[in-house]
Amino acid sequence: MAVSITELYGSKTFNDSVMKERLPSPTYKALRAAIYEHKPLDPEVANVVASVMKRWAMEQGATHYTHWFQPLNGITSEKHDSFVSPVSGGAAIMEFKGKELIKGEPDASSFPNGGLRATCEARGYTSWDPTSYAFIKDDVLCIPTAFCSYTGEALDKKTPLLRSMDALSNQARRILKLFGKDVSYVRTTLGAEQEYFLVRKEDYKDRLDLIWTGRTLLGASPSKGQELEEHYFGAIRTEVSEFMKDLDEELWKLGIPAKTKHNEVAPCQHELAPVFEMANVAVDHNMLTMELMKKVADRHGLVCLLHEKPFDGVNGSGKHNNWSISTDTGVNLLEPGDTPKENLQFLIFLAAIIKAVDEYADLLRATVASPGNDHRLGANEAPPAIISIFVGEELEAVIDSIASNSPYAAPTKLKMDLGVDVLPTFSKDSTDRNRTSPFAFTGNKFEFRMPGSSQNLSDADTVLNTAVAKSLHDYADELEGAEDFESAVIALIKRTIHDHRRVIFNGDGYTEAWEKEAERRGLPNAKYTPLAMKALLADKNIRLMEQFGVLTKTEMHSRYEVEIEHYSKVINIEALTMLEMLRKQIMPAVAGYSSEVASAAAAKQAVSDKLSVRSETRLLEKLSAGADELSDAIDALQEAVDKATAESDEPAKSYLYHDAVLPAMEKARKASDTLERICSEDYWPLPSYSRMLYYV
Ligand code: ADP
Ligand code: MG
Repeated sequence: MAVSITELYGSKTFNDSVMKERLPSPTYKALRAAIYEHKPLDPEVANVVASVMKRWAMEQGATHYTHWFQPLNGITSEKHDSFVSPVSGGAAIMEFKGKELIKGEPDASSFPNGGLRATCEARGYTSWDPTSYAFIKDDVLCIPTAFCSYTGEALDKKTPLLRSMDALSNQARRILKLFGKDVSYVRTTLGAEQEYFLVRKEDYKDRLDLIWTGRTLLGASPSKGQELEEHYFGAIRTEVSEFMKDLDEELWKLGIPAKTKHNEVAPCQHELAPVFEMANVAVDHNMLTMELMKKVADRHGLVCLLHEKPFDGVNGSGKHNNWSISTDTGVNLLEPGDTPKENLQFLIFLAAIIKAVDEYADLLRATVASPGNDHRLGANEAPPAIISIFVGEELEAVIDSIASNSPYAAPTKLKMDLGVDVLPTFSKDSTDRNRTSPFAFTGNKFEFRMPGSSQNLSDADTVLNTAVAKSLHDYADELEGAEDFESAVIALIKRTIHDHRRVIFNGDGYTEAWEKEAERRGLPNAKYTPLAMKALLADKNIRLMEQFGVLTKTEMHSRYEVEIEHYSKVINIEALTMLEMLRKQIMPAVAGYSSEVASAAAAKQAVSDKLSVRSETRLLEKLSAGADELSDAIDALQEAVDKATAESDEPAKSYLYHDAVLPAMEKARKASDTLERICSEDYWPLPSYSRMLYYV
């Protein structure tokens, strides 16, 4: 019997309706206070919740529980413990106590920590994030948690995100209070649009590069370019739509609000957009979405690629971070209002964001830096590595009129509120879509488009929240003592626009002209990861994170180390994989084909020396020259890898991987791709780009 979607939705989560139904009323109330008002959870309450949760989980078939968390390597982690607790007499009872619910002690030694735990405590603990519902996955009760060391340092990505959300809430409330609004909590909301590729499992299995690195390290671009295709919103192939249907159901069971799905610009590329949620929950859900995409694809004979650039010359995948802030009652603070007063409030939040993004552009850039995303940022489809803000023509005109004290000249379609001379009203949905902007205002939220498809959005949102908290903090300090509130606000907005006008850019972000212009404006442009990561060490950025208790200097440094080491590791694996493929697959293939061509020529000549072997000879010359070039490139790549591996200073090592290993890989790839174009398909050992991407 078919189950309705409403019945299915959230059926595997210990959600609000389950809690309401099953928890004693006082317990439910106390838990809700913990969830919605961020009050600490009483151990007695935790005990009751744990016991009810256990019973519910066991009814769902769960035998184990786990504290589910997000270590610094960007994927999720879990360690399963069973509910079974032996009692005397050889029997066992199923047990799950409050303290097991709210605190766990994973053996943390295997997680990256950037030296954080090496010195002091060897262990860390996880603690329940009650704002994110527990759920059942593979018969395991998963409890979303944050992960800290015993000395309180964050060892995960969730802890700083939660801290930053609180920081932003506290500062936003101060501003709202000045506008006469008493709000108990301001939420960060996030909608993560996830892009991905689907390839056939049989092709994937024949590509060591996809298996080991998630991207193709070799492969000539097909003659049929993607510009000839009309994939976007095109019909979804049957096998893909079956996958999507299945995926939606799995996500809905976990209460993940998957909403839209469509084809993306590149062949075999797709996107899933959920309805936005509170940022920490949205991140949890995005991590689960990525995991389920892989699992569900497997059931359909497909493989889901979440890498930012699986195919050279083909659009890469991003994860658009739709971000806003709203009151606890759901009023979106980035929604332009209907009255000038409301617009004043809107504009101060807008100004705070502009200031934050300009002042901490380097740090925000660092949060989206990864070896995979380096292929994307600055390539022709992704936003550049330069951070700028797109506000739309109209809002820009409003901003300029405020800054220059000149009357606002509204585009004809807009009505001007004539009653007020300073602040006009403007309609919210006239913002243009500028796909090339890395940070775009889209009517009632900002869309940060730089994050890569495989990244955990916690980092980006942690920085965004904290930087905006800082702007609001400075504003509140100033405004709380102001004599004339309104004129003080206007002065503040004016000053902000004047000081940070440079970060606003409405033009085409993909052009070279913008790169030059951005340089003239003094905007940072860190093009690759080791360079971008240095922002984690900058004093002003450490001061920001420390001021709001989000990350300490030690934590920032440890994160830098983890990221730099990760970068080198990834490139190292890629280089070694490439070397193996070139030596064991490509070189032998070229030799085999060359020998066939040579035999064919010799056979012809044996029949009659009047038969021309010109084409064979020419081909052989090309194959031979290509093989020589590739062989040289292999040696050069090996040498570069050896040198990088031998370097013990981590930052220096990461630069070696970027400056020497990557270019050597590129050279080897070029030689191999040239050979692929002239080598017989029968000999070429790898599924080609056209086979993988263009089929019906
Ligand atoms: P599109 O950009 O395709 O027009 P939408 O504007 O509806 O689509 O939304 C894109 C993403 O932004 C969705 O994931 C959506 O849930 C999210 N989103 C919409 N409003 C907000 C908000 N206030 N805060 C955070 N994310 C939002
Ligand atoms: Mg989008």
